Amino acid sequence: MPNRVLIADDCQIELQRRNEELEEANQKLAEFNRKLEEMAFTDFLTGLPNRRFASDQLTRLWAASSRREASLSCIMVDVDHFKKFNDTMGHKCGDQVLAQVAQVVSSCVRLSDVAARFGGEEFVVICPDTSLEQAHLLAQRIRAAVANITTHYLDQPISTTVSLGVVERREGMTDWSLMVAPANDALYEAKNTGRN
Ligand code: GH3
Ligand code: MG
Ligand code: MG
Repeated sequence: MPNRVLIADDCQIELQRRNEELEEANQKLAEFNRKLEEMAFTDFLTGLPNRRFASDQLTRLWAASSRREASLSCIMVDVDHFKKFNDTMGHKCGDQVLAQVAQVVSSCVRLSDVAARFGGEEFVVICPDTSLEQAHLLAQRIRAAVANITTHYLDQPISTTVSLGVVERREGMTDWSLMVAPANDALYEAKNTGRN
């Protein structure tokens, strides 16, 4: 009889050890999955959320603002004459300019806003509970902040400007692409009327 108790105890200890191992493996897997998800939604170069994340947020915030009949605005941002950095100083310089602009854009926005890299040298800022006037003020703040910064690349001073387009969600817009498209149109109007 005492022998059987001993075996049962051993089994219990072994089971507990395996459970602990499993728990540790599960924790590692959860952490790995969290990192993977973060990577899937982050732009590697700038550290900003990427277009996939921005699209998800546009869908979510669009639905929420429609339901609550609350305002929602978006700002499209495009670096002016960006190609010249690549062409004259190399892609590394271009990359640095993009990272710099990304940092300035995200430093201008509120915690509730979403600033993301939307494409090559284009960014989007999604602003919940923000009217067109408020978004326009924010766009002006971003524009001025970018224009006021000078960085250096291989000891050369580097400065740039951005053009922006701003649109607020309106009655009759059935999905977020109908807000982003006119913001892009406004952005190109800004390009055609002098940039910055
Ligand atoms: P505009 O003022 O009209 O916007 O002119 P632009 O030169 O900024 O625009 P254009 O569309 O002619 O050029 C954008 C360039 O951005 C082309 C592309 O090679 C470059 N680009 C896109 N993504 C990256 C990137 O991640 N790194 C670098 N270095 N360049 C990129
Ligand atoms: Mg562009
Ligand atoms: Mg550009």
